[in-house]
Amino acid sequence: MSRIEIDARDLLQERRQALQRRRAPVARAGGDARRSGWSAGAEPISDEARRELAEIEAALGRIEEGSYGVCEACGGPMGLQRLRAIPEARYCLACSGNHPVAR
Ligand SMILES: [Zn+2]
Repeated sequence: MSRIEIDARDLLQERRQALQRRRAPVARAGGDARRSGWSAGAEPISDEARRELAEIEAALGRIEEGSYGVCEACGGPMGLQRLRAIPEARYCLACSGNHPVAR
């Protein structure tokens, strides 16, 4: 695993945790502190956070597969600068311009 993959994985895992914490509100005083974020009583996660979480999961999957850093559209390298700026990016800068919703 390359340096950039290790860095990206750490960053993505941190952000995934932060997002998951957001959907698992801390129990109020006197509440059930052991309640997990996955329980039925958890706050619904926002669409934006769910999308981001999905992108993060996908990027982590690509790191595991060894296909991380490769543009999904053209198959070219994403570039270090882009990966540092947007670790979960699917497309290179050129291709993201052709996909308005892609990051
Ligand atoms: Zn591309």
